[in-house]
Amino acid sequence: MQRDLLDALRCPGTHEESWLVAMVLEASGSTLRVAELACPVCGAEFWIDDGVAYFTSPTPLAPHTPAVPAEPYTSDMVLRLAALLGVAESQLPVALVGRYAAASGVLASFVSAPQLLINSAPAIHTAGASRIIVADRLPLGVESLAAIAVDAAHASPAFLDSASRALRVGGRLVAPADAPLPAGMRELARDDSEWVAETTMRASGLIELRRRAPESVL
Ligand SMILES: [Zn+2]
Repeated sequence: MQRDLLDALRCPGTHEESWLVAMVLEASGSTLRVAELACPVCGAEFWIDDGVAYFTSPTPLAPHTPAVPAEPYTSDMVLRLAALLGVAESQLPVALVGRYAAASGVLASFVSAPQLLINSAPAIHTAGASRIIVADRLPLGVESLAAIAVDAAHASPAFLDSASRALRVGGRLVAPADAPLPAGMRELARDDSEWVAETTMRASGLIELRRRAPESVL
């Protein structure tokens, strides 16, 4: 995982957004190889092991790596994906979730942005890309991503909401056609397989709505 990404990481726990405290045990240039991450709010601990950040397993010895097969992506398919993501170059990362990570290598030749591969197949290695393994939501702060593509295996309402929050204003989310559109996003286009939508408001507004939710229940 690239050191720059540390700033974007947040505890995935259901409390107010919190940075993680990192203790780096092994690094190679800008790449973190082994580190411990801890949440100062809830005490949850996460790990970076062999360069991969894990936000799932309670133990670093047996990390759960989802079995997501790598599919061959043709240049045409990747060009289409690049157009949907709507990013040519960016300082913020572009995130590829699940099967979309298979486009990583070819996409790097079209899109000049750091890549964040989420729950990708272990066989996918793209120079400079960060890999993280997550559960049902993204451990990322607001407005930390330029764009994100979420595959069918991950397109739950909770995951898509966390993806929407992590996008910068105007950032695009690509998701399966049958996935629910998160609140605060405007659909730009769709076909039989996918839709693409952009964020229309600052994510802090969504946090406010979320905090009000328990009161409306009472
Ligand atoms: Zn926490």
